[in-house]
Amino acid sequence: MVWKSRAVTRPVEAGNSAVCAACDEPVKFAARNKAFQVICNVYENGVWDRVEHFHAECYAAAGEPYGTAA
Ligand SMILES: [Zn+2]
Repeated sequence: MVWKSRAVTRPVEAGNSAVCAACDEPVKFAARNKAFQVICNVYENGVWDRVEHFHAECYAAAGEPYGTAA
């Protein structure tokens, strides 16, 4: 079995310090409006390479580079 990159949607949690891979802005927790992030496990040539974080909007705007987020 070849591991493929995959994406999941998660609520942004307090204390989250990830930076969006698309717009370079921090993916920040906002108590007022529920924010969502897309977390992607990126595999290069079948080997896990890195995790990338996106704002949910940025991921959609980027054309869902790692497939539709689950
Ligand atoms: Zn972004």
